[in-house]
Amino acid sequence: MEKAPAKINLSLDVLHKREDGFHEVEMVMTTIDLADRVELSYLEEDKILLEAESRYVPNDERNLAYLAAKKMKEYFSVTGGVHIKLTKHVPVAAGLAGGSSDAAAVLRGMARLFELDTTPGELAQIGAQIGSDVSFCVHGGTALATGRGEKIEELPAPPPCWVVLAKPPIGVSTKTIYQALDIKEAHHPDTEAMVMALREEDYEKICRHTGNTLEGVTVQFHPEVAQLKEHMLQAGADASLMSGSGPTVFSLVEQDVKARRIYNHLKGFCEEVYMVRVLGAKETLD
Ligand code: ATP
Repeated sequence: MEKAPAKINLSLDVLHKREDGFHEVEMVMTTIDLADRVELSYLEEDKILLEAESRYVPNDERNLAYLAAKKMKEYFSVTGGVHIKLTKHVPVAAGLAGGSSDAAAVLRGMARLFELDTTPGELAQIGAQIGSDVSFCVHGGTALATGRGEKIEELPAPPPCWVVLAKPPIGVSTKTIYQALDIKEAHHPDTEAMVMALREEDYEKICRHTGNTLEGVTVQFHPEVAQLKEHMLQAGADASLMSGSGPTVFSLVEQDVKARRIYNHLKGFCEEVYMVRVLGAKETLD
């Protein structure tokens, strides 16, 4: 069984649009204890069979988990089939990289199942062909992702704290948000300061430098994202931010009692609320 944990963006900056159509980004991401389950087993027949126990995700090549298995079979000339059972717990199209993490779990799981001679670096390279966040998900933990998200520099995990997440009942298309982004006008977080804060294990500084260039754009389409953020801050969150292109908003909270209070407060008007911990690099893959 492979765990496929979600990520949150402690910061997300979009620098410019590249000639290949991708955006050059700087993202500080950390893995949280909210995960899908990915179970892999052999199939006699030489095919990929995906069983996704969720009505929100497809069961065929459109699923990133399926695509990952296909890439692995091609890249390593694997003969023999694989059965993938995917149990979703991470909300879909939420800004939490659920699909990318499922794909990364399949890359790791196939390497293990077929005893392939490979490294996390190689798996991350294969992952980059599936999606920009897959490389990060292969490594897990906390990292700075640059390029279009595929260049990974490991960072220390934030000091222990709670992450309270709320996902409003809307889906956000990452493509639409990037298309609507005006890079010159948007707010840009100080990535370097965030990286320093993590290296210095300075929780307050981490909270101060959370920032997401895409937040203002998503808020224009979905004002409830700004309202959720405001609710969290008023309820005592140390920091609050939208993750990825949204719509999930999260809070960082040091004190147990406060985190529980924010969780209960949000539960009053939002159906999908989670209270989880940040994961260290090793815990991610166990
Ligand atoms: P990111 O933060 O990387 O932008 P996200 O959390 O916004 O990702 P996902 O949950 O990964 O978004 O899903 C985005 C789209 O990908 C959805 O429309 C979904 O149908 C599709 N998809 C394909 N495979 C999966 C999967 N295994 N799990 C979730 N979504 C998947």
